[in-house]
Amino acid sequence: MSVRVRLAPSPTGFMHLGTLRVALYDYFFAKQNNGKFILRIEDTDQSREVEGAVSNILKTLRWAGLTPDEGPDKLGGEYGPYTQSERLDIYRTHVDALLASGAAYWCDCTQEALEESRKQHLGYPGFCRDKKLESGEVVRLKVPNSGETTFTDLIRGEISIPNKDIDDQVLMKSDGFPTYHLAVVVDDHLMEISHIFRGEEWIASTPKHVLLYEAFGFDVPKFAHLPLLLNADKSKLSKRQGDVAVEDYIAKGYLPEALLNFVALQGWNPKGDQELYDMDELVKLFDITKVNSSGSVVNFEKLDWMQSHYIKEKSDEELLKVARPFVKRDVDDAKLSRILDMLKDRLVRLAEIDELSDFIFEIPDYDADILVWKKSDVVTATSMLQELKDYFEDANCSDVEKLEEDLKNWITKNEYKNGDVLWPLRTALSGQKNSPPPFAIAHVLGKEEVLSRLTTAIKKLS
Ligand code: GLU
Repeated sequence: MSVRVRLAPSPTGFMHLGTLRVALYDYFFAKQNNGKFILRIEDTDQSREVEGAVSNILKTLRWAGLTPDEGPDKLGGEYGPYTQSERLDIYRTHVDALLASGAAYWCDCTQEALEESRKQHLGYPGFCRDKKLESGEVVRLKVPNSGETTFTDLIRGEISIPNKDIDDQVLMKSDGFPTYHLAVVVDDHLMEISHIFRGEEWIASTPKHVLLYEAFGFDVPKFAHLPLLLNADKSKLSKRQGDVAVEDYIAKGYLPEALLNFVALQGWNPKGDQELYDMDELVKLFDITKVNSSGSVVNFEKLDWMQSHYIKEKSDEELLKVARPFVKRDVDDAKLSRILDMLKDRLVRLAEIDELSDFIFEIPDYDADILVWKKSDVVTATSMLQELKDYFEDANCSDVEKLEEDLKNWITKNEYKNGDVLWPLRTALSGQKNSPPPFAIAHVLGKEEVLSRLTTAIKKLS
């Protein structure tokens, strides 16, 4: 059997981290089995559609490098998604077949009648099951009254639900729009999907789908329901506690390699003691049966840690290339490279480059106190700044390593204390208590500006 998997997002919002994880697992599984990854937009509930959601899904998948291997059309070298709202005739034909075989029936219960019955019954009590109506409000599936429905989840094992607990599902509304349950089953069958990976929140729907597969006489695919993503307090990961849309992480400047590595390990880790993996390794190691069944608490500090790792791993040219789109300030490549070199060790979000380098373009109006190292005093700080001014008159700021080496040698030769020299230098150049090392700042500022900032600092102390 060939492996065919699909991502089936509803365009009811921007792509969620959980959806990205499904896409990743689909992709790993398809790649390791020489299979195909398909994208299907499930837009049959048009009242819930959010403008821009479809283009956001496409854009996000492209950013992540998870583009479909097949689709109804190909634009700019890329397959487009299947779209359910363009397939209404197909669902209608399938509903007709179920009506003809007696596996489904028309129901003409009004909203009021249903609301009234809900006061006494948990589900739909089957008022119209035997009425044999020719039309009505909705078409429902005739779920057997007895027995149970069983399926095997690749993560959780066998799951059985008594049929009496399953409602007569609505399959289609009178406007001809299918429900999710009908459309998902018809499409997964017609698209020859072999494995369905989706979030745990769909687990209660799966027995309904299995009954539908059986009613149609279709083969049932394999299922895996992925654990929920949770906040630290074990509640479902939600917007209220932080960003959940992939878009937000892209906008903040997280690198795809960091976010994908991070999301792939939510609820699964092939080795346990290793946390950094590239996509090729993940494809090789992925094992859907080893995904945890319990919810996974998302630790965003880990994401930041991975991001700094991937930033440090980049060459200067690569970093310049990925950073450039996030820089709003008018700054040429040479200067931006020096800024990135200065920030590399502390940078996490690329969108923060401008803010983190503000002090380069305009020194903040700082307090003279910060120029004095905690183990030093005003007199020493002033004299060191004077000495540094003389030193920088003849220094060459264009080679940061040499600058550091020479300055450190100069400190040793004069038997100064590192802190007495480097602290006032760094704070004079940055105007900040916390900042990158002074050599890196001097490298970005250039000699003239270094001298001018030292002069300002000396004035502040006098
Ligand atoms: N359209 C559903 C969603 O938005 C798909 C669930 C499934 O994969 O079957 O998540």
